[in-house]
Amino acid sequence: MVTAYRRHQARCKYANKKKYPEPRKHKDCTCPVHMDGFVTTPFGEKIVMRGSLETRNWGHGQILSLSMLIGTLATVRACCTLEAVHW
Ligand SMILES: [Zn+2]
Repeated sequence: MVTAYRRHQARCKYANKKKYPEPRKHKDCTCPVHMDGFVTTPFGEKIVMRGSLETRNWGHGQILSLSMLIGTLATVRACCTLEAVHW
């Protein structure tokens, strides 16, 4: 599973960890959207999916993170079927 979150920049109020100890919970600002998560292959290997989504639009970030997740899941399934990758 992957999650999208805003990576708060220094000038953002949510960058204050004393005031906001769980910065990933806050999304009502315009900081860049990042994603974090992983896909587990049928062979138990983790494919880490992490990084900037190159957008500040929350909705776009959600769509991009989900489309990357779906793409990775489909590719893992195809590779297992085709034996295109030797794990
Ligand atoms: Zn922010």
